[in-house]
Amino acid sequence: MNLLQTLTLGLISLLSFVPAPSRAANPADYFPKDYDASKARFLRYSDALRAKYRGVETEAFTVGAERLTVDTTFVPAQDSPRTLLVLTSGNHGAEGYAGSALQALFIEEVLPTLDLAHTGVLLVHALNPWGFKHERRGTENNVNLNRNFDLSRDLFATKNEGYDQLRELLELRGPVTNACAFPAKDLLWRMLVRKDVTQQSLTEAIGKGQYTSPEGINYGGHDFESQTTDMIRLLARVAAPYPAIFHVDLHTGLGKKGVLHVMTKKEMNEASRAAQSKLFAGRDDAAHYELTPPEAEGFYEILGDYANIPAKLFPEPNRVVIGITAEFGTVGNGLGGKVVTINRLIKENEGYLYGYGDARTEAKVKRDFRELFFPSSAKWRAGVLANGKYLLDTVVKRFISQHP
Ligand SMILES: [Zn+2]
Repeated sequence: MNLLQTLTLGLISLLSFVPAPSRAANPADYFPKDYDASKARFLRYSDALRAKYRGVETEAFTVGAERLTVDTTFVPAQDSPRTLLVLTSGNHGAEGYAGSALQALFIEEVLPTLDLAHTGVLLVHALNPWGFKHERRGTENNVNLNRNFDLSRDLFATKNEGYDQLRELLELRGPVTNACAFPAKDLLWRMLVRKDVTQQSLTEAIGKGQYTSPEGINYGGHDFESQTTDMIRLLARVAAPYPAIFHVDLHTGLGKKGVLHVMTKKEMNEASRAAQSKLFAGRDDAAHYELTPPEAEGFYEILGDYANIPAKLFPEPNRVVIGITAEFGTVGNGLGGKVVTINRLIKENEGYLYGYGDARTEAKVKRDFRELFFPSSAKWRAGVLANGKYLLDTVVKRFISQHP
């Protein structure tokens, strides 16, 4: 064998040793066909990362009767730990399409450009796999996972009187027989005519989460879901050595159509608050996202928020922990968008619990619901990729550089 042959063979074996999935030929291909395809791709990425980096750990948390899995891949800092990025998709199952697309984009286009000497990356695929597979937001127990995260079970004793007062209007009983029905009309009447419900009180009553009605909207559960416990345990273990943590939880639905809302949290120590104001201050940032604190109009503080968990786990004053919900708006957060959203949530929940009058009604209600969290618009999807990439590339690199 001559030198050229030796080199060629060496190169071939090196290339086959790192089976990196090829970059999507068409960026729109980042959006997966369904949960199974998304999971299979994530596992291929995990294999490639394990071959490329030292100490990569993968876990699969089995969830529910169908035994679907939350898959996680942790790439530790290769030298010594300083900054950690946590990137999660599918917290609200049906929102997993966009979340998975951005995780794939991150792995293909951003991760290879990061110096991982002092930076670790934890990727969580489909926090709610059952919801992703069946295109529901909640788990198979009808639990909104993003109202289910806390370190104390006191969460489940929380009262939401606003929800209780509107409960009858939100929880319809009996099969959905008309796809065009407008169950939110009574709410609209209360807002516009009786004026005893305001947009903000409605937003809070519904959005905040409730712990009294298992068949209702945004039910936070009566105990922790299994993946809640598993994720908290994983975060507590892998994040512990990192003095600076940036946690990005990927969502779709809420907010202005086509706009990426970077939703910040109230719960953080002084060091984190100062770091956060420096992090979201780039010259070009405004072109890519809107910084949306919980008190912003049309938004609200939620109970049991997953993105708050690292700050709760690591409250030490010298630790920087920034958790955000990255929310890609789909229908708008004005009155119109809100009513459309609530209307679809009510009908889909009713159909799930009581069934549908006929197959056409079922298909239409499910199609409208899917559109709310995974719009078919090519323009919307391109915006998710462009603005998501800015967040996961430019902003993530800024975070790393600000915590040397
Ligand atoms: Zn969501």
